[in-house]
Amino acid sequence: MRVLQVSAEIFPLLKTGGLADVAGALPAALAAAGADVRVLLPGFPAILSGVAGLVPVAGLRAPWGEAARLLHGRIPALGQLPAYVLDAPALYDRPGNPYEDAGHRPYADNHRRFALLGWAAAQLARGADPHWAPELVHAHDWHAGLAPAYLAYLPGQPARSVFTIHNLAYQGRFGPDVFTGLGLPSSAFQVNGLEFHGDVSFMKAGLYFADRITTVSPSYAQEIQTPAQGQGLDGLLRGRAGVLDGILNGVDDRVWDPATDTLLPHRYRMPEGRRMAGKALCKASLQHALGLEVRADAPLFVLVSRLTEQKGLHLVLDGLDELIARGGQLALLGSGDAALEDAFRQRAAVAPRRVAATLGYDEALAHRLFAGGDVTLVPSMFEPCGLTQMYGLRYGALPLVHRVGGLADTVTDCTLEDLAEGTANGFVFDDFTARDFGRALRRAFALFARPADWRRVRATGMRRPAGWAEPAQRYIEVYRHAAAR
Ligand code: ADP
Repeated sequence: MRVLQVSAEIFPLLKTGGLADVAGALPAALAAAGADVRVLLPGFPAILSGVAGLVPVAGLRAPWGEAARLLHGRIPALGQLPAYVLDAPALYDRPGNPYEDAGHRPYADNHRRFALLGWAAAQLARGADPHWAPELVHAHDWHAGLAPAYLAYLPGQPARSVFTIHNLAYQGRFGPDVFTGLGLPSSAFQVNGLEFHGDVSFMKAGLYFADRITTVSPSYAQEIQTPAQGQGLDGLLRGRAGVLDGILNGVDDRVWDPATDTLLPHRYRMPEGRRMAGKALCKASLQHALGLEVRADAPLFVLVSRLTEQKGLHLVLDGLDELIARGGQLALLGSGDAALEDAFRQRAAVAPRRVAATLGYDEALAHRLFAGGDVTLVPSMFEPCGLTQMYGLRYGALPLVHRVGGLADTVTDCTLEDLAEGTANGFVFDDFTARDFGRALRRAFALFARPADWRRVRATGMRRPAGWAEPAQRYIEVYRHAAAR
């Protein structure tokens, strides 16, 4: 099956979060499962410079009259993955973050920047490239949300569509005035369409018009059908429950494997019961590099995250005194909300040998944190899938998570019964409160004080199968269902 993946980000060319990791890993896994996969990306500077041999395929004119060129090339960093890139400098040639300006304000023309992405997907389905046209368009998140809408109105439906929600909280919502420029029939702008409380919602367009919907974990697929987590779209999602699947993300072991990871000072694998000298060396090297006390006996908690309200970071700040009092250390890598950045910066300034806060984005340091850490903190209020707890599992830094979304689907608490059964692989708290978070923290300290049990739980986590082969198979089943519709 010819499949076009449409996303705004792709690792390793451009990444702001988990979406990029998925977009970078899924195509190769689908190809290995027999699909003929290409990707479509906006021509941000980092994308244009990461795609080799770009040649023009077609000239496009957006519904509002703007001209763009559709280019085709290959991505050397992803095994020569074939890629279409939208060359429209007036829309995409801006430094930094793909969605917002330096002051963290969304760009005022985001509706056009991402409408063009969906529009171009539909043009490919209509034969814009005489050599290749998708049978199935797989659109990721709101940025690609208009693709299913444009496809639904193409005569003869040349391609089916699948829409994947990576985070329902980011919806791509714009005032009603933008609708006329989008080139969709007026019938699309209604409750049974992309209209959302009088506005245009790109997310809703994806959810309403796609033949099938997926999201990134089974628990999140259920949660988004409830008013509490449906972000106002739970009714629509309940109505479409029959075509909605939750498929847990995989871990790209070309990128995330402590046995082969060249970003680590020492590599290690997991021979059961052994102490993993390589991991201990990674910890010491990390502590040294971050200015923390170099102590093997101090449990090192790591946190790699966008700093937003979603991620539950106030729980970490609330629990930090206790974490330090019990002899722990915290190493954080993150960027985002200015108040959260300040709070962590201040805590690190007060206790520099116990708390390190690196504010910014640093792929290499992220790898070294999972390798050097003992515990990965992911106390998110909600979490569609979450990748950092999976990286923590893979690298032997036991995840401590809130029981929600993909965190609930991947982490099993160290209860006595799960310890006895050998299924425990981390720490899970139920109530999103400082009290419950604190109890999970104390469970982590209690287990750390029992090294043999700690190593056993760590081994369970590291053994967890988590490649992309199985999720890719699930996506192919979804594509088949969409095609058969
Ligand atoms: P989300 O998509 O909500 O940000 P995920 O856990 O799904 O959360 O994915 C986050 C991804 O971004 C992971 O690969 C994580 O390692 C990475 N990441 C987050 N913040 C940073 C940072 N400051 N530096 C490097 N990598 C980061």
